Amino acid sequence: MALSGLDIYKLLPKTNCRECGFVTCLAFAMALAKKSISIDKCPYLTPEAKKALEESSLPPIKLVTLGTGENKLEVGNESVMFRHEEKFHHPCGLGFIIEDSLKDAEIKERLERINKLKFERVGQALNVSLAAIRQNGEAKRFREAVKLAADNTNLALALMSSDLAAIRPALELIKERRPLIYSAAKDNLAEMAKLAKEFKAALVVSAPELEALSGLAKELSNQGVNDLILEIGKKSISARIWDLTQQRRQALKKSIRSLGYPSLVVVDEKDPYEETIQAATYISKYAGIVLIKGIEPWQALSLLTLRQNIYTDPQKPLQIEPNLYAVGQANEKSPVLVTTNFSLTYYTVLGEVEASKVPAYVISVDTEGMSVLTAWAAEKFTPEKITEALNKFGVKDKVSRTRLIIPGYVAVLSGDLEDKSGWQILVGPKEASGIPSFLKNL
Ligand code: SF4
Repeated sequence: MALSGLDIYKLLPKTNCRECGFVTCLAFAMALAKKSISIDKCPYLTPEAKKALEESSLPPIKLVTLGTGENKLEVGNESVMFRHEEKFHHPCGLGFIIEDSLKDAEIKERLERINKLKFERVGQALNVSLAAIRQNGEAKRFREAVKLAADNTNLALALMSSDLAAIRPALELIKERRPLIYSAAKDNLAEMAKLAKEFKAALVVSAPELEALSGLAKELSNQGVNDLILEIGKKSISARIWDLTQQRRQALKKSIRSLGYPSLVVVDEKDPYEETIQAATYISKYAGIVLIKGIEPWQALSLLTLRQNIYTDPQKPLQIEPNLYAVGQANEKSPVLVTTNFSLTYYTVLGEVEASKVPAYVISVDTEGMSVLTAWAAEKFTPEKITEALNKFGVKDKVSRTRLIIPGYVAVLSGDLEDKSGWQILVGPKEASGIPSFLKNL
């Protein structure tokens, strides 16, 4: 757990020698607490104080990286229980289990479909994270399936097998890909630890209860395996959520280092609706990785949308760059609409303008990411700000008619805006869904 300035001060020599560049040890302690200076600046720390300060500066939940390059997946490094306290940092990875008992063509087809699970929502790319190959039969078949996965996807890979004879050859095949080994348990801990160290791979460690899991994680850490992901065995949803919550609470609030790792949940449900509901539950609290079998686009899109909402910084609404945007083949006769730069608002308006098939211009005004009514109430969407945007983006030079369509909810702005901007103001529909018919009848 992070130490306060006073806690840090208690660990310092308190000689005020100024060698660190600060006038007093207390001033140095305050700077350390703010993480604006390194502990190395004080040459007089005792080894015990140095160790305590180093440990306190580690993230309470370790950052674990899988995969490489563009498809690298980072999980962990979380610092709060609730997103409104700060934000959640590393979005939960969504992965798909592929059984090695499938035929080659079926495995390839699944991988192709998984590779296509890419979406764009409110200007952000939503991508899936992992392909997990699960062993059902011989070691040879497992290796073949892993080779197919390595050749047909760039996603991070997970090897799901407890068969040491199968895991080693598979690891040799994909060691450059920084894979995830699933999983170590009490019975095979030493052997799995050896493999994880040898191949520098992250390792899932599983146990039926938190206490046992904590013990195994501690043992692995003592053996030098620190890229760990924790898994509680199969339980009811409520019991699992309880454990996931406790795990995070113990790591964040009680500084239990052996529970300070990201967690993983495998959802093994046949019914795709049940599977999606369960996966959504674990994404919400507090899985670092969720593995499912279903690869339908509706499943991935709904889960990735949920994930996007949870992992958005609540203090910084998603925004687009304030600007003038042309929709379709906009020309000098095209209508001009104005909205805010809150991503959800802008993309909703954009979608409806596109649906109208009427080429148009859309101005997004800098409202610091607020939606129309919120921005109006906060005086961020005012006649002055809209006039400023019209001038700044040179809208007059783009169109022959100075006529601006404003959202129906802020009809009250029309008179003042007309005076300030010199543009004719048309009050548009209140809801974006009314835009297509409004533009067609203009
Ligand atoms: S160098 Fe160390 S002992 Fe000297 S003032 Fe700075 S913190 Fe205190």
